[in-house]
Amino acid sequence: MPELPEVAAHAERLSAGFAGTPLARFEPMHPAVLKTFDPRPAAAASKALKEVGHRGKYLLLRFGEGDGGHDTSDLTFVVHLMQAGRLRIDTKKTSKPRGGMARWTFAEGPALLLTEAGTERRAGVWLLAGDPGEVEPLLRLGPDAHTIGRDELAHRLTAASERVHGFLRDQSHLAGIGRLLANEILHSARISPFANTSRLDSYAVDRLHAAITTSIARGLAAEREREDMGRSQDRPSDVHHRVGEPCPACGDTVRSVEYRRYRVAYCPTCQTGGKVLADNTTSRFLK
Ligand SMILES: [Zn+2]
Repeated sequence: MPELPEVAAHAERLSAGFAGTPLARFEPMHPAVLKTFDPRPAAAASKALKEVGHRGKYLLLRFGEGDGGHDTSDLTFVVHLMQAGRLRIDTKKTSKPRGGMARWTFAEGPALLLTEAGTERRAGVWLLAGDPGEVEPLLRLGPDAHTIGRDELAHRLTAASERVHGFLRDQSHLAGIGRLLANEILHSARISPFANTSRLDSYAVDRLHAAITTSIARGLAAEREREDMGRSQDRPSDVHHRVGEPCPACGDTVRSVEYRRYRVAYCPTCQTGGKVLADNTTSRFLK
């Protein structure tokens, strides 16, 4: 799933390419894609795209009159790509594009096409008036991960009292971190993925805060080099894509614990005092 660096870099790309262009129409191509009824998408027609921003893993396409800052008459399309959705520049504008979920057609130039690979159809679009941060789906998001202060992070960690890997992926605690970044951040911070958030000492919180910042900055720098949103395999990784390979920091073998929907990848020497964690299908072969 695209995480904060991929979504933020994509928002910058789309802003550079489309800002200032008036919308001709928004066209849902799948019955479940549009999650809101009011306002109607026609209300956004003829308004110009002011900017494409992001909040956590959501893209925000803000349309309004005039240019410049936020206005109460602005309408914002909030787009969640989920696992397999992509928001692509559409020059062909064919009537039934493969995987097509929704399309924004502009008064001139290419369109923007939301596609989703596979059969799950979980990508979604919300059209919101006013401040989109005040309503679902953005209402319950924690602060964007790269903006959180050290002390607020410490407060949230203590209040949560859960495994730190799950904490980082929970969008109500911090917005924007997914499976790859959670693994990379904890490796960079030298913290066990299974450590309890309420038991991290102040040095560990310092390291975790620094690792969140540097891991997101590293991902963002790599993604800004690209012309389109990359795949997971394209993203910088010291552990997530290196299970069974030597840890770049210490040379120990990177291990994993596999779950149905995600994988915890870690380095025993860097993160767990050398301990190889149980329930680890990979470690059984590598021991
Ligand atoms: Zn290591």
